[in-house]
Amino acid sequence: MTDSRPRHVAIVGGGITGMSFAWHLQQQAREAGLEVTYTLLEESGRWGGKIRTDYVEGYADEPFVVEGGPDAVLTQKPWALQMARQMGLGGRLWPTNDDRRQTFVVHRGRPTPLPDGLLLIVPTKITPFVFSRLISPWGKLRMGLDLFIPPKRDGADETLADFMRRRLGSEALDKLAEPLLSGIYNADAEMQSLLATFPRFRDLEVKYGSLMRGMLAARKARPSPSANGKKPAMFTSFKNGMQELVDGLLPHLTGDLRLGTAVHAIKKKANGYQLSLNNKETLTADVVLLAVPAFVAAKLIKPFSQAVADDFNRIRYVSTGTVSLAFRRDEIGHPLNGFGLVIPRSEKRRVNAITWSSTKFNNRAPDGFALLRVFFGGSRTPEMMSAADEDLLATVSAELESLMGVTAEPLFHRIFRWHKSNPQYDVGHLDRVARIEAALPPGLWVTGSPYRGVGVPDCVHQAQQTAVRVIEELSGD
Ligand SMILES: Cc1cc2nc3c(=O)[nH]c(=O)nc-3n(C[C@H](O)[C@H](O)[C@H](O)COP(=O)(O)OP(=O)(O)OC[C@H]3O[C@@H](n4cnc5c(N)ncnc54)[C@H](O)[C@@H]3O)c2cc1C
Repeated sequence: MTDSRPRHVAIVGGGITGMSFAWHLQQQAREAGLEVTYTLLEESGRWGGKIRTDYVEGYADEPFVVEGGPDAVLTQKPWALQMARQMGLGGRLWPTNDDRRQTFVVHRGRPTPLPDGLLLIVPTKITPFVFSRLISPWGKLRMGLDLFIPPKRDGADETLADFMRRRLGSEALDKLAEPLLSGIYNADAEMQSLLATFPRFRDLEVKYGSLMRGMLAARKARPSPSANGKKPAMFTSFKNGMQELVDGLLPHLTGDLRLGTAVHAIKKKANGYQLSLNNKETLTADVVLLAVPAFVAAKLIKPFSQAVADDFNRIRYVSTGTVSLAFRRDEIGHPLNGFGLVIPRSEKRRVNAITWSSTKFNNRAPDGFALLRVFFGGSRTPEMMSAADEDLLATVSAELESLMGVTAEPLFHRIFRWHKSNPQYDVGHLDRVARIEAALPPGLWVTGSPYRGVGVPDCVHQAQQTAVRVIEELSGD
């Protein structure tokens, strides 16, 4: 180090990426024995970005726990949970009710159970698959051809749709891959990058020559049940919802935390960067981390490089929304015997999926009540994003009646519209991200959902890895 003054880092964006970057920066700086201060700048009036839980009281002793954004994290990706445990939230983890796990796929207008033994979308048990009504006999035979089709070994990216058609056929794409896998990303399978979203499928194809053989091997290699004989749940949340992660993290952040503060521009200065803020103030920093949507990063980066800004803008976004509806349990005839239903694009419905939140988790609705969450928008039903509340509710009610026989009036509803919220990992995404990362000037960093994984654990992981690199950069200053 040429001088011993503390280094200052400006973190732009107070979603889970920016917040967890702040936490990991503190940790890494301490371990490196480096004095680092930071300012975390969030445009809106609340922390957590897309993580948002509302508590609706007044119907019973306990409130309804209503998620506006994510409702759980994948436990196989440990990073968010590791951080939660470090915050002392280990005792608050709230797994899904996996004994009631069942997903339905709408098939010719009717919810049809996914056959048992499906690993992601690949059958690993023969009998339930053979007897399932979801896939036609020809579609099943076509899926079986996966065992004989030679693997693609050129390493090139392709769309998820092309991959699925090539290996398992178009029926598996329509009934399984598109609703279940593209659904996670709110993506269009015809544009979605296989390598950026499901690289494991390509790995299995190359290693085992077949997706089915690969999945069978993966199933055998899965960890055995824990001491109590139970498999760990695939997803977990927190007792009072995902908001607990944000609220639990906040008191551990030791930096200067500013809500209602947008960064409008960034300029290079002799010793770092100067940020212009919405309140006409400026802030200087040695390092700037952008944990904002790619189209915001594009604007901030444009003065440094039009080409990099163009690459940021090539990361497309779609808008999505959810409507949560609460009912008295005895007013819904449906058994709610699963986590909910997904809807293939070919069914041409006006909603994309429905989660039966009060079955998926305990503590989402008080005893005697039910909570459902309906997903709309994305690349499937973008027109629903601009529908007026009453039209949206009328459509949702009609779909609930048609798909689940629900005719009761909800006790209340909560609508969340997330505009330009879901980054799309189109074919070539990873090359684009690598190009962006390589072209950023020293001291300017980006990380989070637009780049290397959209899930909350992916965001935390990227934040952690970026914090390590930032500390390395500052140490070698
Ligand atoms: C409906 C929905 C359901 C989801 N479900 C799941 C799920 O079940 N599990 C899962 O793992 N993931 C899920 N996701 C994805 C996950 O929630 C997001 O990818 C993740 O929360 C993104 O975090 P982030 O910090 O990268 O971005 P964001 O949460 O978008 O945070 C970015 C922040 O930057 C701020 N900002 C923007 N511009 C500026 C500026 N100029 N100056 C200062 N601040 C600025 C914004 O206000 C925002 O708070 C879901 C997403 C949605 C929308």
